[in-house]
Amino acid sequence: MAWRVGILRELLCVSEKAANIARKEGEKNKKFAVDFKPLAGVLVQEAIKQNMENKFPGLGKKIFGEESNEFTNALGEKIIMRLCPTVEETVDLLNKVLNGNKLASETLAKVVHQDVVFSDPALDAIEINIPQDTLGVWVDPIDSTYQYIKGSADIKSNQGIFPSGLQCVTILIGVCDIQTGVPLMGVINQPFVSQDLNALRWKGQCNWGLSYMGTNIHSFLPV
Ligand SMILES: [Mg+2]
Repeated sequence: MAWRVGILRELLCVSEKAANIARKEGEKNKKFAVDFKPLAGVLVQEAIKQNMENKFPGLGKKIFGEESNEFTNALGEKIIMRLCPTVEETVDLLNKVLNGNKLASETLAKVVHQDVVFSDPALDAIEINIPQDTLGVWVDPIDSTYQYIKGSADIKSNQGIFPSGLQCVTILIGVCDIQTGVPLMGVINQPFVSQDLNALRWKGQCNWGLSYMGTNIHSFLPV
């Protein structure tokens, strides 16, 4: 059986898990008495790192990101945020970061540990083998952080372009050749694209691209 672009497929899944974490904040107003937006970037980055390491042992140490995993809570305690082996342990750790807000901790831990199945038939059709040891990964877990924290959900687009607002927020994962820095593949996940005003749920979208040894393909191309 031909080896398919396993890493890129996995990055799509993990970016969708990251988008789920980002979207959980939307439920805050209903359920949580705590603002966990400052934590979301750290949590997303750690989730991406840990999930990729689990699937591709050795890759985790070549994943770099914008956030430090050191988090300071409201009491001024420094906590190293990471994904624990079990949901319960992650709940305990999140609980420290979120100053004992059990409901928020449990909700977030559940999303972080949830398996996400997410695929694109166009990507499934590609058969290409990229050796893992040549790869480096850069993550921007929440791009447009200011819009994520302060951004409105009611901004109108200008010919499809949002000048500000939640729609500007993206999860960016870029993969390069670690020797040369040449970009090889990447995923852009946009967690907030359109909102169902009755359920107040957001729908997102995810795009990807790959450029390797003469194969150039991205999610905008028809199959
Ligand atoms: Mg950022």
